[in-house]
Amino acid sequence: MKSPSQIINNIKQTLPEGVSLVAVSKYHPASLIREAYEGGQRIFGESHVQELVQKHEELPKDIEWHFIGHLQTNKVKYIAPFISLIHAVDSDHLLHEIDKQARRCGRTISVLMQVHVAQEETKYGFSPDELLSYMESGAWRAYTNVNICGLMCMATNTSDEVRIASDFERADQLFRKVNAQWKVRSWGMSHDYPIAVQHGSTMVRIGSLIFGNR
Ligand SMILES: *Cc1c(COP(=O)(O)O)cnc(C)c1O
Repeated sequence: MKSPSQIINNIKQTLPEGVSLVAVSKYHPASLIREAYEGGQRIFGESHVQELVQKHEELPKDIEWHFIGHLQTNKVKYIAPFISLIHAVDSDHLLHEIDKQARRCGRTISVLMQVHVAQEETKYGFSPDELLSYMESGAWRAYTNVNICGLMCMATNTSDEVRIASDFERADQLFRKVNAQWKVRSWGMSHDYPIAVQHGSTMVRIGSLIFGNR
């Protein structure tokens, strides 16, 4: 069996220049993260606040931790001191709180806006139209301690590659419409990252392919 760091290195060889890899380590023990770290991986993604806080305490301090899941407003304060990137901002309310906690820590926190392009119903993420009008409203300009640097999305959970490609394509179109300053397109997971990369992804979030299923 291949180790996490061997799999990471194999994936990285297939990624085009400029696409970064977030190793999604949620539910997996610190020992596996350490193995990947020792093989050179520095960016890890988690989606549960308590688990992330614990791993952050336990593991090397030069790890770049990304929060990739739905973030509850009342938990922002626990990760604000150290988080590198928050992927899934899905409301003005959450952005406001991130700004407030970042200021309290004397930091600027980088974030991505989550856009909902998949077919499944979900309560998380802006619709493309909502996000466009939110960005045009300029409400976010009041938040001096957040840096909005791009877009995050998830494609429909299906084996239909045409469907997946069209979801990423919608996100890509929105990305280009919204803001020329944006740099990061966080899309692509274990089962669909090759398609995501073909459709403009600059950051893939890969978990089960590296660490196995839990
Ligand atoms: C768990 C998770 C991933 C990784 O999914 P895999 O299918 O295990 O690669 C990516 N993005 C988000 C938001 C996740 O919650």
